[in-house]
Amino acid sequence: MGLFWKRKSGSDFISLGLSTPLETTAEPAEAQPSEPEPKPAAPESMSVSSATPAAAPSVAPPAPSITPPVVAEEVEQENFMRRFRRAVAATRENLVTRLEDVVKGQKEIDATTLDELEEALIGADLGVQTTMEILEDVRRQAGRQTLQDVDELKRVIKRHLIDILERAEHARGVASETTVAEDIRPYVMMVVGVNGTGKTTTIGKLAQRIKAEGNEVLICAADTFRAAASDQLAIWAERAGVELIQQRQGTDPAAVLFDSLKAAKARNADVLIVDTAGRLHNKAHLMAELEKMKRVAAREVPGAPHETLLVVDAVTGQNGLSQAREFLKAADVTGLVLTKLDGTAKGGIVVAIAKELNLPIRYCGIGEQADDLVVFDPQTYVDGLFE
Ligand code: GDP
Ligand code: GDP
Ligand code: MG
Repeated sequence: MGLFWKRKSGSDFISLGLSTPLETTAEPAEAQPSEPEPKPAAPESMSVSSATPAAAPSVAPPAPSITPPVVAEEVEQENFMRRFRRAVAATRENLVTRLEDVVKGQKEIDATTLDELEEALIGADLGVQTTMEILEDVRRQAGRQTLQDVDELKRVIKRHLIDILERAEHARGVASETTVAEDIRPYVMMVVGVNGTGKTTTIGKLAQRIKAEGNEVLICAADTFRAAASDQLAIWAERAGVELIQQRQGTDPAAVLFDSLKAAKARNADVLIVDTAGRLHNKAHLMAELEKMKRVAAREVPGAPHETLLVVDAVTGQNGLSQAREFLKAADVTGLVLTKLDGTAKGGIVVAIAKELNLPIRYCGIGEQADDLVVFDPQTYVDGLFE
C-alpha cells in the first residue's frame, strides 16, 4: 500500500503531500526537451472555471511538517487502516458473529453446519459462486479432519477471499497507474457509472488526494446532462484547489473533453479526471457517447483514456452488480471503485464484484468527506473483515 498515487515515482517522492517544501517546489519540467511548449494562450475558452484563480502557481508546498515525513506517513497510513476497519465494521459484525455462531459448540463440521455457513456467507453478499467454492474448501478440509476450530475456518475463508481479489487484480485492466510511462501527460482517467453511485464525490476525493501527492490535476465536467452536476463538481474542485473545465449544460461531452485535454496539455498537467453522465436508459446512446469521448481522448493524448473507472455503490449489492455488467458492455472499463462501503453490512459484495467482473478494485469510498477514499488492498480488506 503506502503511496496513494505512485506514477510520479522516483526516490525523491514522498506521499500524501508531506514532503518538505524543497522537494515539492523543485519540480522543473526538467530534462524533457521533447516538448519545449512555450505555453501559449491555450484555448482557455469560456469554459475554464474561476473556481481557482490562477491555479498555476498553486503547487504551493504544504506547510513544513514538524513530524519527520516518514513517521507522518506511517501515522497517516495507520489512520487510514483504522478508518477502513471502521467502515467495514458492520460487515465484520454480520459475518464473523455468524461464523462464530455456526461453529460454536460443534465437535465436527456436519451438513447442518455447512448449511448455516452457507447462509452466513450469502448473507454477507459474497455471492453464490464464491460461497459454493468456500463450502467446497471447507468440506474437503473437514473430511481430512484438518478443520479444528473457528479460527481455522476463518483462515480457510480468508485465504479464499484473498485469492479471488488478487486474481482479479492480475486478470486484466489497470491495477496501478504506474503502468503508464511517466512522460505521458496528462494521465487521463474517465469515471463512469450509474447516477447516484458516487462518481462526482469520488472524483472530488481523487483530485484532492492526487494533488496532495504533488501532481497538477484538472477535472473535466463531461456530465453535461444534469444541470446540477457541474455545480456539485465545482464545489469539489474548489475545495481541492484544482481547475475545472466545464461548459453549458447540454454541450456535447466530447467537446468538453476536447477542451479539457487541450487545457491539460497547455498546463502540462499530470492528471485529467473526467466526470461523465450516468444515465442508463438509453444504452446505444451511452455507448456512442463514451466511444466518441474515447476517440477524442486517444487523438489528443497517446493511449488515453489510460484508465476507465467504473463506480459501483456497495449498498446496492447484487443489483449494483447487474448494473455494472451493463456498463462493462458499453465502456472499456479498466478498474472499479466501490463506494459507500461504510453504509452496508454486506461488504462481501466487494468479492462478488471482483470475481464476476474480473477487474481490479482500485479504490473504496468509506464516507462522504474528502479524505474518505482508500486505495483498495486485498489483504487489508480481508483482514478488516475478520479482525
Ligand atoms: P454520482 O451521481 O455518481 O456523481 O454520485 P454523487 O457523487 O453525486 O454521490 C451520490 C451520493 O452518494 C452523495 O450524497 C454522496 O455524498 C454519497 N456518497 C458518495 N460516495 C460515498 C461513500 O463512499 N460513502 C457514503 N456514505 N456516501 C457516499
Ligand atoms: P430519450 O431516451 O429518447 O429520452 O433520449 P435521451 O434522454 O437519451 O436524449 C434526449 C436528449 O438529451 C438528446 O438530445 C440527447 O442528445 C441528450 N442527452 C441524453 N443523454 C445525454 C447525456 O448523457 N449527455 C448529453 N450531453 N446529452 C444527453
Ligand atoms: Mg455526478
